Amino acid sequence: MTIRRLPEHVVNRIAAGEVIERPASAVKELVENSLDAGATRVDVHIRDGGKSLTSVVDDGIGMTPDELRLAVERHATSKLPQDDLDHIQTLGFRGEALPSIGSVGRLSITSRTADSDSAWRLDIEGGDIGELSPAPLSKGTRIELRDLFYATPARLKFLRADRTESSQVADAISRLAMARPDVSFTLIDGERTKIKLEAAQGDLLDARLRRLSGVMGKEFVENALPIEAEREGLRLTGYAGLPTLNRGNAQMQFLFVNDRSVKDRLLFGAVRGAYADFLARDRHPLLALFLEIDPAYVDVNVHPAKAEVRFREAGVVRGLIVGALRHALAEAGHRASTTVASAALGAIRPGENSGPALPFGRTYPQTANYPSPGVSERAMAFQSPGVAAAQGLAPTAPPTAEMQPAAEAENFPLGAARAQVHETYIVAQTDDGIVIVDQHAAHERLVYEKMKSALDAEGVRRQGLLIPEVVELEEDAVDRLIARTAEFAELGLVLEGFGPGAVIVREVPSLLGQVDVAGLIRDLADELAELGDSFVLKERLEDVCGTMACHGSVRSGRRLNGEEMNALLRQMEATPHSGQCNHGRPTYVELKLADIERLFGRR
Ligand code: ADP
Ligand code: MG
Repeated sequence: MTIRRLPEHVVNRIAAGEVIERPASAVKELVENSLDAGATRVDVHIRDGGKSLTSVVDDGIGMTPDELRLAVERHATSKLPQDDLDHIQTLGFRGEALPSIGSVGRLSITSRTADSDSAWRLDIEGGDIGELSPAPLSKGTRIELRDLFYATPARLKFLRADRTESSQVADAISRLAMARPDVSFTLIDGERTKIKLEAAQGDLLDARLRRLSGVMGKEFVENALPIEAEREGLRLTGYAGLPTLNRGNAQMQFLFVNDRSVKDRLLFGAVRGAYADFLARDRHPLLALFLEIDPAYVDVNVHPAKAEVRFREAGVVRGLIVGALRHALAEAGHRASTTVASAALGAIRPGENSGPALPFGRTYPQTANYPSPGVSERAMAFQSPGVAAAQGLAPTAPPTAEMQPAAEAENFPLGAARAQVHETYIVAQTDDGIVIVDQHAAHERLVYEKMKSALDAEGVRRQGLLIPEVVELEEDAVDRLIARTAEFAELGLVLEGFGPGAVIVREVPSLLGQVDVAGLIRDLADELAELGDSFVLKERLEDVCGTMACHGSVRSGRRLNGEEMNALLRQMEATPHSGQCNHGRPTYVELKLADIERLFGRR
């Protein structure tokens, strides 16, 4: 057996395996370098999804010829001046990107510092470093990467279709752009401009809002709640979408830690927890959250791609996020997203498009489950008179005297009830439009909120187990549970230690009914171990409230009189979160007169 040191270019290729997975990861590394170099504009050009060419041009501080030569060496970086991994202020710090990219593709770097009278160029191909030569460039750095992975054919085979790679590149740039509204970005794919974002001046929050609108779409910004919270030296800002604006996956959830886009399980879990009351499990809100934290309390050196982080106090971070989101959602009260109305209008107007494509190559987020498929077909039925009546689409009853609203009722946000149709929907008139309420969804929400506040006010009722259940766990899991017994008791769960490796459960929340006690305890223990805090129990209790509310509320199909309808509307206005039911579907839709006029071609 012979142990030997691997040659530099092999070492670099091994590193490249982790850092450079596809064109988008090369673009991410290169644009990060531009941002670290103080660029105010970054222009990216790709061909064939970035496989044959990727170029990144910036107006940053540039490099001298000596720096250029060092930059392509392994572990050479200008970003850890004090060798201090605990206070990382830059996006890069590992000194791996350029040598890795240069070992798997053909890389050419041209750069010029402000006080130099010419630019210099250095090429590196499959790990072979060339000679420095003068080159034209007025300012900053231009990097060209050709034939990515030509030196590692195995990796080349795993690349996807050009279109897929290209949209990954756009995604990477968009994430970087969201954190830096003060920088202009463009992405040109072949001849097509896919991203064009101008630097936004002024106050950070305004600038950010404009940037988010450019990246996530105007619709998001119009239906998002501002988030601002601070706790123990942590600061959270950003925007969270209304629950009624949701999608089937979490791709539109952007989380930044000190302006670095991260994909973190803890953060996603916190978002799920905060929206659990408002969304079905398989629906996801849209949001962009920015966490500022002392770099000493977060470790970004978890993975070479730097997309994951570890927090020193994960429980505090989760608490801050959940708290801030819940607070914002509570303040939002009965607001439902405007997309609900536009989705409805879109469905009635046959053939209308859902809007321009977003830079991600995605379309605008659509609201879930609404409108139900077939709405436009049914709307078509209106075109032949008689059909509508035959299908029972006419109002069930003409408005009666008691339904004539007092004029002032129209000033309420949800207006004055005018009619009930199909024993399911309440039609109300507001001062500038009409509101249609789904009576079951609305009532379900009211009942749910009432049950929850009763839970908070009166505590949780407990129910003794006939035979106390012993649950065996590891010792430290037991310790963690025991430390929280008082808190659990408040939520209706009474347990004690039972020797070194077990707890005994004596009472459970009666709301939970027949519950798998051991499963619940293990979930709690896991959560405590992972997050330093526990949410499962509270979330489960709220889940049960949701189910009970659904069964306890007025069903569709019940006839309501005017008074009952108006009472429901007034209660909705007074109840937090009444804009959506427990599954994230809207409880009401508002159509402005202007929209209705447009429908009839009056405008
Ligand atoms: P890291 O970013 O972790 O330091 P890289 O391999 O990405 O490692 O880059 C190595 C060094 O090259 C950087 O530390 C920086 O000094 C220099 N550099 C890279 N790209 C640029 C650029 N666009 N403008 C100026 N300097 C750059
Ligand atoms: Mg770098």
